[in-house]
Amino acid sequence: MKTEIYCLSIRMQRYNCYLIKEEGIVMVDAGNSMAVKKLLKTLDSLSINPRDISLLFLTHGHIDHVCSANDFKNLTGCQVAVNYREKDWVEKGLVSVPPGVNPWGKACSALGTVLSPFMKFTGTPVDIPLEDTEYSLESYGIHGRIIHTPGHTSGSMSLLLDTGDAFVGDLAVNGLPLRIGPGMPEVGEDADTIKDNWRLLLSNGVEKIYPGHGKQFDANILRRYL
Ligand SMILES: [Zn+2]
Repeated sequence: MKTEIYCLSIRMQRYNCYLIKEEGIVMVDAGNSMAVKKLLKTLDSLSINPRDISLLFLTHGHIDHVCSANDFKNLTGCQVAVNYREKDWVEKGLVSVPPGVNPWGKACSALGTVLSPFMKFTGTPVDIPLEDTEYSLESYGIHGRIIHTPGHTSGSMSLLLDTGDAFVGDLAVNGLPLRIGPGMPEVGEDADTIKDNWRLLLSNGVEKIYPGHGKQFDANILRRYL
């Protein structure tokens, strides 16, 4: 079995969405309208029919990860999955701003709170409100699973492939706007819980981290901070 991973990176804004192809095809996260254009271009270059994408997994409900979910769903007809705690954010287009975990993060959070009334996105129905228990992706033709990894938000989840690749949203990031270099996001609900879930990833054999912001990196880098 071959695993193909494509990063749809929106360089200007440093948001990542991912396309994972094994026997089936799933997507991780949905950024803004630029992500939709990038997705169409990528699918075209790979000769993939958008209707072959069966699932859009949202790592969490923050606007920069979900705001094109409705467009993605209309384009592909896929099912949308997010943790049940953040289902309303996705369906109703609600903008949630997490607190900062350090002074820089607190400043970013304060700015986000001021700007949040001006941020809007179209909500989309959530077909699969994920529980905190493990969710297998075998029925989607993907050898992997989704697990609950809170800390950035209480409903944050990660997709782990059997290959050791993990798609973690903002549980760990690698660059601006949330930090410089790999590690802790500057904003989140609880830094200790974030670290607990880094341990969980490592104990599950994760070798490579695919973050929501910035380039992929070796999971062992996280050990430095534990
Ligand atoms: Zn986030």
